[in-house]
Amino acid sequence: MAAMAAALRGPGRRFRWRTQALAGGARGAARGAAAGQQDYDLLVIGGGSGGLACAKEAAQLGRKVAVVDYVEPSPQGTRWGLGGTCVNVGCIPKKLMHQTALLGGMIQDAHHYGWEVAQPIRHDWRKMAEAVQNHVKSLNWGHRVQLQDRKVKYFNIKASFINKHTVCGIAKSGKETLLSADHIVIATGGRPRYPTHIEGALEYGITSDDIFWLKESPGKTLVVGASYVALECAGFLTGIKLDTTVMMRSIPLRGFDQQMSSLVMEHMESHGTQFLKGCIPTCIRRLPDGQLQVTWEDRTSGKKDTGIFDTVLWAIAQCASIFFSVLSCSRKNKKRDP
Ligand SMILES: Cc1cc2nc3c(=O)[nH]c(=O)nc-3n(C[C@H](O)[C@H](O)[C@H](O)COP(=O)(O)OP(=O)(O)OC[C@H]3O[C@@H](n4cnc5c(N)ncnc54)[C@H](O)[C@@H]3O)c2cc1C
Repeated sequence: MAAMAAALRGPGRRFRWRTQALAGGARGAARGAAAGQQDYDLLVIGGGSGGLACAKEAAQLGRKVAVVDYVEPSPQGTRWGLGGTCVNVGCIPKKLMHQTALLGGMIQDAHHYGWEVAQPIRHDWRKMAEAVQNHVKSLNWGHRVQLQDRKVKYFNIKASFINKHTVCGIAKSGKETLLSADHIVIATGGRPRYPTHIEGALEYGITSDDIFWLKESPGKTLVVGASYVALECAGFLTGIKLDTTVMMRSIPLRGFDQQMSSLVMEHMESHGTQFLKGCIPTCIRRLPDGQLQVTWEDRTSGKKDTGIFDTVLWAIAQCASIFFSVLSCSRKNKKRDP
């Protein structure tokens, strides 16, 4: 945000929507940037809640702004559009799935209040997922339109720094683009972490990056972790009547008020979420019928146990996604533009 404030203090610039294909022009462009001729007043890396808000404010204040956003697919291959975590794999789809669960509870209660509802009620994951995904796609489109309306240029490229004023972006097609700016804001957010030391974790597990984009119901699910992401996912899965277990190593909702956290857990247990407390998974294997056999260890007794699930969802932590660094796109640039 400091970079953005500085950008807003600087003199106005003439608009030059200019990008340079790297082939042939990279060194010249990077030198131009170093000499103070930038394409933009402000370049924002990351088109999530933070990056978009920053870019739109700067544009509203008369700056020439560009946003670059690129979603690295999840290990399971899930990808999504503009808007970052909140829109695509966070707050928005999560709240829609909570709403699904709440509606189910109300329909179940409804007959006590005189409503004639056929029992038992059934839920169709496919239908819900399609509606959630269509809503998210409409938001992706809305963000693109908002950027266009504010004359913020959007690039669907993965950025890495060449020097402090120049960024190299690589598109899905492999095409490289150089962009320069007086100020560059890093708003790259975070992504869910996998426990890479656990056999089968990466091959067979999913994360919150995948759950909202599943076309089929996850079925009987083991959620590993006791973060708010873990408990929220377990909450809506239980709410739509899926057999759901949370495996937690120590305390729930670390960093939150522990009295409140216990109440949350008790409430979830009373609604059917199962908890495996003080346990850590050690191995996941796929069985011939496609189900997942999870082995875990009780940390107090040291005893091992196993269970069979359809889905294992890791919700153990987020890690910052600054997967770009002060590196050049090509060896040539690296030598020339430190
Ligand atoms: C399941 C879940 C539920 C949540 N629920 C809530 C909630 O209810 N309320 C709440 O306040 N928060 C919630 N959050 C947190 C919230 O989603 C995040 O705090 C917020 O989205 C972070 O925004 P951001 O702009 O910092 O990053 P992000 O939204 O992650 O955006 C960063 C963007 O930058 C892109 N990017 C990264 N590196 C590069 C690069 N080198 N080049 C180009 N693009 C790049 C990323 O792909 C991404 O699109 C939830 C999160 C999750 C996972």
